[in-house]
Amino acid sequence: MKRIAVLTSGGDAPGMNAAIRSVVRTGYKKGWEVFGIREGYDGLINAKFVPLGPRDVGGILQKGGTFLASARCEEFKTEKGRLHGMRSLNENNIDGLVVIGGNGSQTGSYLLHKLGFPVVGIASTIDNDLVGSDVTIGLDTALNIALEAIDRLKVTGASHQRGFLVEVMGRNCGYLALMAAIAGGAEAVVIPEVDIDPEEIASTLRVAYERGKSHAIVVVAEGAKYNATRLIEYFEDHQDSIGFALRVTILGHVQRGGTPSAADRILASRLGAGATDALERGEYGVLVGWVNGEVKTTPLKDIVGKTKELDLRLFELARLLD
Ligand code: ADP
Repeated sequence: MKRIAVLTSGGDAPGMNAAIRSVVRTGYKKGWEVFGIREGYDGLINAKFVPLGPRDVGGILQKGGTFLASARCEEFKTEKGRLHGMRSLNENNIDGLVVIGGNGSQTGSYLLHKLGFPVVGIASTIDNDLVGSDVTIGLDTALNIALEAIDRLKVTGASHQRGFLVEVMGRNCGYLALMAAIAGGAEAVVIPEVDIDPEEIASTLRVAYERGKSHAIVVVAEGAKYNATRLIEYFEDHQDSIGFALRVTILGHVQRGGTPSAADRILASRLGAGATDALERGEYGVLVGWVNGEVKTTPLKDIVGKTKELDLRLFELARLLD
């Protein structure tokens, strides 16, 4: 291994920069040349390579987003696109590639590995839905941003006896919503993994109002059948019986742009080092993740097409604590 490249792909996540920095600096210490590829798989296909030395990644550790920029690239989903990607790697004499990203990105890296290229993935997504990592880069920061918003909504909610339906990210996975609900002391949580009857949520809110609560929070994952918009539509006809005046707050991309937390910076630094170690060992086609308190590799073939199962005991806990 002499020359490696690193890219960030899919949804950006706070901590991606710390992972790039770690790959660049640990790769450099192994005596390798390191290149960044701008704009994910699109930059791979179009050979957007930039040489990166240890000083080029100074000052990015504390910044959210990804200084290499990310992209969604439909062309990479085709064999032709991936062969183009292989060609630009070979033309630039790259011996190994590190892909920092979530589920979709790691499917791409697996397919590139199947074409015979040495690839290592790093688990990074605020959704925390990747098999092969207990937590993923970006999750902790996104969770803390959701929490700060919930805490603030409680303050204003208490002044007006309002209830807030707070929608957080999570297309297929309710992990972020569930954790935000537990940490934020929500009255109810709505996630894609559990079918809910909106009448049950209405009743929970009603009971909370009757118990004299000054505010109420319902955390809703964007991918739930009843997202915040659909829930408020449902509640419109029931508003009087619920007690609280209800409002919707959709956090959306606000959750992505935060300054990476200490936990995300440390996780990203460790996984970045884990990725160059895996390349050095000749261990390719793996995802570097955090498993049982350690950096661990899992074959990409065992993670693609899967999503990590949510521990539904946490859903029960959220209900018990309302
Ligand atoms: P994330 O990695 O955050 O889950 P996406 O699902 O949008 O984000 O995937 C990011 C990129 O990974 C896509 O734009 C595409 O280039 C690549 N990708 C996703 N799915 C596949 C696939 N099935 N085959 C090849 N490449 C894929």
